[in-house]
Amino acid sequence: MNAERIGILTGINGNMATVEFKDHVMQNEVAFIAHNEERLKSEVIRVRGNVAELQIYEDTKGLKLGERVEFTGELLSVELGPGLLGQIFDGLQNPLPQLAEKTGFFLKRGLYLEALDAKKEWEFTPAAKIGQKIKPGEKLGFTAEGIFEHWIMAPFILKGQVEVAKIAGKGRYNIKHLIAELKDENGNIYPVTMSQSWPVKVPIACFAEKLRPVKPLTTKIRIIDTLMPVALGGTYCIPGPFGSGKTVLQQLISKHAEVDIVIIAACGERAGEVVETLREFPHLVDPRTKKSLIERTVIICNTSSMPVSARESSVYTAVTIAEYYRQMGLNALLLADSTSRWAQAMREMSGRLEEIPGEEAFPAYLENRIASFYERAGLVRLHDGSSGSVTIGGTVSPAGGNFEEPVTQATLKVVGAFHGLSRERSDARRYPAIDPLESWSKYASFIDEKEIKKAQAVLRRSYEVKQMMKVVGEEGTSLSDFAIYLKGEFIDDVYLQQNAFDEVDAATIEERQKYVFHALHGIMESGFNFKDKDSARKFFQGLRQVFIEWNSSEWQSDGFYKKENQVKEICKKYITA
Ligand code: ADP
Ligand code: MG
Repeated sequence: MNAERIGILTGINGNMATVEFKDHVMQNEVAFIAHNEERLKSEVIRVRGNVAELQIYEDTKGLKLGERVEFTGELLSVELGPGLLGQIFDGLQNPLPQLAEKTGFFLKRGLYLEALDAKKEWEFTPAAKIGQKIKPGEKLGFTAEGIFEHWIMAPFILKGQVEVAKIAGKGRYNIKHLIAELKDENGNIYPVTMSQSWPVKVPIACFAEKLRPVKPLTTKIRIIDTLMPVALGGTYCIPGPFGSGKTVLQQLISKHAEVDIVIIAACGERAGEVVETLREFPHLVDPRTKKSLIERTVIICNTSSMPVSARESSVYTAVTIAEYYRQMGLNALLLADSTSRWAQAMREMSGRLEEIPGEEAFPAYLENRIASFYERAGLVRLHDGSSGSVTIGGTVSPAGGNFEEPVTQATLKVVGAFHGLSRERSDARRYPAIDPLESWSKYASFIDEKEIKKAQAVLRRSYEVKQMMKVVGEEGTSLSDFAIYLKGEFIDDVYLQQNAFDEVDAATIEERQKYVFHALHGIMESGFNFKDKDSARKFFQGLRQVFIEWNSSEWQSDGFYKKENQVKEICKKYITA
């Protein structure tokens, strides 16, 4: 650390402070404001002359001008190592349960705890050999963390290739114990422990190359995987009005998506929402491992008592942790809910800095920040030839559900898939309320493209007829148009909608989606000889009922085939070709 550098608090405006200093101050370095016994964490966000402007990550009540400010010379960083999984942190990586234990639920300001338990011992198994040359981010050995091999890697901060000078034998160590020494070409020695610190705003980029995300990431949400898929290492966003189901959808994805690690950055919209997540999550069972879901999850959340500035750090902390697991060759999924909260924090700080405002008073760099956040996603090839990925999905909550606003627009410019929730659908309780006509994806689905095109055409025509019927009524609609309308509604009812409360229907694996969608495609391609609208309605009603029962029968069970046969029977009666 640098020699102690101090400053004097000369101004305070909400969570913004101005500080006069003598020597020098670094952009984005962490500083502490000393108030009585408390030390309040803050970050330098602008330096002008000998005045630094700081955002304070704490409530600023009672701060006085003239208070002492200590600059640390360090960037806002996270601690990376075994013990992250299963944790619930705030945006500054304080472990919340432990913090609550210390101070009760009214979190005390200025109290910071170690992010990782320094006393806990982990069984370390070396993998690198003495004399071996390795690059930053390459594997030295591993320990078991939950169901994963947690790789201990050469510090990301190293400049280039180093040589393994010493490595610990198999045994139990805590994260402060020395497990290796690395030597650079000038003979400098770097001690290595099982944890390392990394600045949150700098991407971890110790890989050989970034690859194009082409492999679908199965979320098991049918409407997404089939019509607007996500790719491993890709990005997507879920904009939607208040109460349209963004949080529920993210939670479903966190449970069912086929990834190794899930990182949740929760900036609750409603008071109590975050507390709910914290209470429920530890009890959720991972449908794949049958263990507690939290064992492969890290939650970063902002408590309502934290100021807006902390929302910013939570997004960065979350993505840094995701990159850390990617570096081990795992697939990590980061879910940010809601990114609008983060953007609002930016707006507030920018206002306090009296920067020239852009659209809707958001700062001009809003787009840039959003883009660089999503750019941290990616599928990468590591130096050892294996690959890992970070996929990022963010919700956006535009006021009034208006997608024309700056945060939604900036996000749409950079993401690979758009899952727009519609008020019309959520009001009709058509969940998930993703609009099948407005939403899109640039990634390829695992479903046959011709079948998708067909379904999209039926859905679009059906919607048009539906709108027209609002004007001319059912009587004014031809039988063939009416049948198209019913067809589209049928696909919507039995495939696009999914019952989150039914254990089977809640998550549909790839094979099953292909199978059922193919069956649906067959029905769409068929000709019908309905004698009138009533018989058409009856047919689809009957078929719908059987399909919904089919959806909740265990994949490839006796019940599954029984229902499938029933579907075939009904179709035979009415279908001509
Ligand atoms: P948002 O995050 O968009 O404000 P939520 O995800 O909190 O909205 O959803 C609001 C409410 O809508 C939920 O409490 C629930 O009652 C209902 N809801 C949302 N999604 C679903 C779903 N998939 N299935 C059933 N109900 C849902
Ligand atoms: Mg929500």
